[in-house]
Amino acid sequence: MYKAKAYAASSAKAPFASSTIQRRDPGENDVQLEILFCGVCHSDLHQARDEWHDFFATVYPCVPGHEIVGRVARAGKGVKKFKPGDLAAVGCLVDSDRTCPECKAGFEQFCNNMVLTYNSPDKHQAAPVTYGGYSDSVVVDERFVLRVPSNLNLAGAAPLLCAGITTYSPMKHWGVGKGKKVGVVGLGGLGHMGLKLAHALGAHVVAFTTSPGKKEDALRLGADEVVVSTNSNEMQKHAGSFNFILDCVSAQHDINAYLALLARDGNVTLVGAPEKPLPVAAFNLIFGRKSLSGSPIGGIAETQEMLDFCGKHNITADVEVIPIQKVNEAYERLLKSDVKYRFSIDMASLKSE
Ligand code: NAP
Ligand code: ZN
Repeated sequence: MYKAKAYAASSAKAPFASSTIQRRDPGENDVQLEILFCGVCHSDLHQARDEWHDFFATVYPCVPGHEIVGRVARAGKGVKKFKPGDLAAVGCLVDSDRTCPECKAGFEQFCNNMVLTYNSPDKHQAAPVTYGGYSDSVVVDERFVLRVPSNLNLAGAAPLLCAGITTYSPMKHWGVGKGKKVGVVGLGGLGHMGLKLAHALGAHVVAFTTSPGKKEDALRLGADEVVVSTNSNEMQKHAGSFNFILDCVSAQHDINAYLALLARDGNVTLVGAPEKPLPVAAFNLIFGRKSLSGSPIGGIAETQEMLDFCGKHNITADVEVIPIQKVNEAYERLLKSDVKYRFSIDMASLKSE
């Protein structure tokens, strides 16, 4: 066991503060990463503030962060894929049972015994729960450690580990590609990655935003058209025309407005996870045999596939790099949709704590 530096929230109402946590020493198959950058996901905010209490109560202290890029500091004797000095990444999952049908099929994200990067019971018992990337280091079994394409900017690559895979996985599942009309709702961390990836997959991409000021950016990020969703005339023009819409909104909003935009057999997938339930009018699904579904992150093999796809297409997140000392301020700005388009924490800033 060793002590790692971290930023932790001690309760749902407490701001993050400098702290130390216990981590296990790397075992035979483990990799210890020195964390270089960690993205700030809205899920970090939901969980640090215990907004998902009914589904997934937060255990304090809470150290979030599941968009981790780092350099291998130590590797156990049995580690084959990595050696000290290599770049590597960790996303939302750090373990699973590896034996269930979901794991065998490469769907670790659906394993009943998956271990999330933070706020999951720690089976190594270094601490009551796992601690994430708002820290100087992390220790993870090499099977859950990803390779980072060497051409990618590291601060911008970190958000691929959640925002990237969470948007890539459902788009692949629902056949996003050439000849498909695809909507992306909410231009935050997830949504802006959704635009880049849908564009790279060859779809006709429409961005939906509540922020008229993001219009130019949306076009630059890969949208072919932009709709300000508060303008019902603009919305109406697209009625019944979409094959697929990815909803990346973090707060209460009307999903019926998007179901109405689907063509026959079209699908809206929710990746955004607002605190409260969203009402759905049955007829919005019945007519047109439309469907509404959800999707969590992605499995390890698919996460590597997404990273390689981003390497090939030179795709990273648009980031605002911040020191860890600004993380509380960043959360307030995230709530105001005031980030273009992901905060990425430069973990070197933790050295001075
Ligand atoms: P984010 O950066 O805060 O972006 C959310 C975007 O939603 C905002 O930029 C804004 O876009 C839009 N929005 C915010 N409040 C709104 C409101 N009241 N009405 C309509 N639109 C609103 O968040 P994120 O990190 O991308 O995460 C988005 C959601 O996905 C969160 O709930 C997060 O927990 C969830 N998530 C889920 C998974 C998964 O596995 N399914 C993984 C990661 C994150 P505009 O300004 O363009 O309107
Ligand atoms: Zn996330």
